Amino acid sequence: MTVFLVGAGPGDPGLLTVRAAELVARAEVVVHDRLVDPSVVGIAPASAQRIDVGKRPGAPVDQEEINALLVRFGRLADPVVRLKGGDPFVFGRGGEEAEALTAAGVAYEVVPGVTSAIALPSSIGVPVTHRGLATSFTVVTGHSTPEGSGVDWEALARAGGTIVVLMGVAHRARIAGDLIAGGRISTTPVVAIERGATAAQRVVRTTLGELATTPLEPPATIVIGEVAGLSLSPRAPSS
Ligand code: SAH
Repeated sequence: MTVFLVGAGPGDPGLLTVRAAELVARAEVVVHDRLVDPSVVGIAPASAQRIDVGKRPGAPVDQEEINALLVRFGRLADPVVRLKGGDPFVFGRGGEEAEALTAAGVAYEVVPGVTSAIALPSSIGVPVTHRGLATSFTVVTGHSTPEGSGVDWEALARAGGTIVVLMGVAHRARIAGDLIAGGRISTTPVVAIERGATAAQRVVRTTLGELATTPLEPPATIVIGEVAGLSLSPRAPSS
């Protein structure tokens, strides 16, 4: 019996790995997040038990409960597929689930996924690195708690390179302000991809100076840096 911690990619089932699609297609139990597109969950057999542990901003489902659920089902069903948006180990708390399964003696396997941090910019023709424009990229969470974000935005600004912000919509005004304080100029291009790789995808192009007042809705991936001004052979999502 094995629990598979599977990356579901950013939306479009065409961006699943072959291994992920095979596992979902024979799952007995699918435990998925809110961000996993219904078309991906729909690959599971009709007989599969589907459990939505969707986490909504502001009302998080207790991670301990999810861990306990995976341990319980991991002993009852085979295969159990824990579907997580993008890659399971990029801000997905997949590492905590892996640790909980190890502690409980339940076997698991990690199936890497296509992360939205790179794939969404790429799919709209924005390369996260580009000769002459960016020699590095940083993927950073924009989420913060009352204690702060734990991210030194001004240092990030000084480090140069492309900045890809996940979970950053709510705090975009503060993030933009900190990056400008750190030395990024306000005309720096920014592109936000809302609901990327889904039929509802919306691409919003703006600048760092205008990010605070640009209407945006989560989930969105925000790309900040000179590369965000590029648009190399964009292609519409196929789902
Ligand atoms: N493990 C995921 C990221 C989880 S954090 C991955 O590798 O992609 C969740 C954040 O990812 C969202 O708040 C948003 O910033 C980004 N994201 C995930 N799916 C997205 C999508 N379809 N469109 C835009 N942003 C997305």
